[in-house]
Amino acid sequence: MVWRAFHGALPLRSHLVRRGVMVDLNCPRCGHMEDDSCHALWMCPAVREIWMQLAIVGILERLKGRPVSALCLHAATHCHRDDFNVFCMILWAIWDEIANPKEVVSKHNWKAPKHGCVKLNVDVTIDDALGFIDIGVVARDD
Ligand SMILES: [Zn+2]
Repeated sequence: MVWRAFHGALPLRSHLVRRGVMVDLNCPRCGHMEDDSCHALWMCPAVREIWMQLAIVGILERLKGRPVSALCLHAATHCHRDDFNVFCMILWAIWDEIANPKEVVSKHNWKAPKHGCVKLNVDVTIDDALGFIDIGVVARDD
């Protein structure tokens, strides 16, 4: 997903419109006029709250309004490896929420992955009061 974001290859609404597909261009979260990758993954007020909680936001903040590819490149070259891993996980979690907005995983509708595949379930909790982020990942192959 980060590779696709870096190369501007995420199937966002603005990309669909450029290909002639009629969809509403407004951001489904805040109503912003054009839902491009910069807005969807970085500038939307709904995701800014998440980014602002990260220790690396100071490194990334100067890139406000720049393409997501610039954000990814800057994070890869200026952040500590562990911080870059968190950056990638947050970016992926935001994208996953965009791509699967109504999918709720619970023990009642969880489905095992296809044979030979591994399914990753990820959750992130941000604690303002204590100033930390918990990230949980469960990998299952059956
Ligand atoms: Zn928005």
